[in-house]
Amino acid sequence: MLTGLRIVVLGGDARQLEVIRRCAELDASVSIVGFDTLQQIPDGAVKEELSEHLLTSADVVILPVVGCDDEGYIQAKYATEGTVLQLTPELAGALPVHSSVYTGIAKPYLKELCSNHNLRLVELLERDDVAIHNSIPTAEGAIMIAIQNTDFTIHNSVALVLGMGRTGFTMAKTLQGLGADVRVSVRREEDAAKASVMGLKPFLTRDLANYAGEADLIFNTIPSMIITAQILSKMKPKSFIIDLASAPGGTDFRYAEKRGIKAMLAPGLPGIVAPKTAGEIIANSIVSLLLCDQ
Ligand code: NAP
Repeated sequence: MLTGLRIVVLGGDARQLEVIRRCAELDASVSIVGFDTLQQIPDGAVKEELSEHLLTSADVVILPVVGCDDEGYIQAKYATEGTVLQLTPELAGALPVHSSVYTGIAKPYLKELCSNHNLRLVELLERDDVAIHNSIPTAEGAIMIAIQNTDFTIHNSVALVLGMGRTGFTMAKTLQGLGADVRVSVRREEDAAKASVMGLKPFLTRDLANYAGEADLIFNTIPSMIITAQILSKMKPKSFIIDLASAPGGTDFRYAEKRGIKAMLAPGLPGIVAPKTAGEIIANSIVSLLLCDQ
């Protein structure tokens, strides 16, 4: 149980509702900020205004998956219009030094703020358990985008998945399940061997230029410029690129447009296509970490 733990949830979208519900169910004292337009809030949670007073008694602050921007502004889908949530240095300074800040991914502003105020920062998307579970709604979302933007079936299409990390692996297996001819790019020979054992057709990422011309679909998960003008110049004009890597992605979008190749950066898919599942993934991870700390 989380009895006695004081949690402040600052902003966020539908994913946070699952987090709030689970924490309140486990008897934590949960204050929520930026949820004013929500008619029904999870039992046990209390709506509050953001203030130094609220934060002085917090053990845990939970920020949205995207954290805050480089000026500390926090997105809050359920806040009344015009409400501004900003985690300023003054507010961070009000938090007790033992407190923890949970988010999906932290930008430099938040990292610096936590380090300056001796706050423990937990980036959930850095954790394998969260990233691997999250790869499922990500892959499903990418499939949805592919279907919506092409006039051919995934079945029998040649699909390249660039990178075989946590997202790339699930992406490749999902495409394989739909009957695509999947080729997956890896950096190392040992990963190529692993991919073969798993029934995938691997190639080395550095050889992408030799494979790009066959692709109907490319799903990029490599957060580096990988689909360059040189690669794009070898691709069929009818092929479609879904770039899943974090912004700015790994595609030369300007050149893709010039060549008439459709290319799309598709961030935040779990929260878009499966907010409930994405919320459960985050909630499970937060709750197990908080229970471990008890
Ligand atoms: P990951 O497990 O670290 O996988 C990244 C892959 O990229 C690995 O295969 C890695 O190879 C490869 N890679 C990295 N830098 C490379 C380079 N310079 N050249 C060649 N290969 C390189 O990461 P992940 O969890 O799968 O996430 C991948 C990306 O997707 C991240 O940017 C993440 O933020 C994003 N993401 C987006 C969504 C969405 O909704 N669009 C959802 C989840 C994640 P090695 O294994 O050899 O290092």
